[in-house]
Amino acid sequence: MFEIPEIVNFARQMNGLLIGKTIKTGHLGNSPHKFVWYNRTPQEFEQITRNKKVGEIRTMGRWLLTNVEPGYVLVIGEWGGHILFHQPESMLPTKYHLHLQFDDNSFLTATTQMWGAVELYEQGRELERQYIQEMKLTPLDEGFTLSYFTDLIETITKDKKQSVKGLLTQDQTIPGLGNSIAQDIMYLARLHPKHDLQTLTEAEIQALFQSILETVKTCIQKGGRNDEFDLFNQPGGYMRLMDKNSVGKPCLQCGSQIEKAQYLGGAIYFCPTCQK
Ligand SMILES: [Zn+2]
Repeated sequence: MFEIPEIVNFARQMNGLLIGKTIKTGHLGNSPHKFVWYNRTPQEFEQITRNKKVGEIRTMGRWLLTNVEPGYVLVIGEWGGHILFHQPESMLPTKYHLHLQFDDNSFLTATTQMWGAVELYEQGRELERQYIQEMKLTPLDEGFTLSYFTDLIETITKDKKQSVKGLLTQDQTIPGLGNSIAQDIMYLARLHPKHDLQTLTEAEIQALFQSILETVKTCIQKGGRNDEFDLFNQPGGYMRLMDKNSVGKPCLQCGSQIEKAQYLGGAIYFCPTCQK
């Protein structure tokens, strides 16, 4: 599943390459998939996109919003798999859930391995879509400040018991983060994934906040994670500190062995000494 750094990288690459291209045909894929959400029939999609131009591409959390001009916005969201640009004369992938053929014969495909949305809205209506409409601030938004973050934690802990991992990965409380990048955020903040939010000190909240911003920034600068692929099918340059490859290896800070456990519907990787 792409997280905020990969999505931002896609938008950057697409903005550099696709703006101004004319769509010759838009197909909604050749591989029926019950977990891909479409809001148009293939015929409608093809009809609306024909001869439209690609405009600016922007991001909201794990959502890519592409202007299809005039008048429409193509939304690709919660995607995990591939979004690829293909030079003219390239082979079409065997399976895909979106194929935009441009009039210069280059094309774009998107294929998901799990689920995701490929939807086309009249401009402005995309903001009414579930998950986009009620989206909270992402770490890239200007309003995502220490005081916003502190209030967010306070609000959550009033209603329920929540852990640090829960804050970072559940209910899109911080949109764009996922189970992958969250591991490094918690390690760098020296907080255990199960640490109860209620008991965080002011200094710990500040460390967590800084770690979110810095980890996201670093991962974006490196073009996303090294086990995800960009628009040109190249892996990102961000090597995770805490993932399946670090289990049993010494912590870079203290030398303790990195441990793995299952928690909140996924694996956690942590240093039993550094992360409290
Ligand atoms: Zn350690």
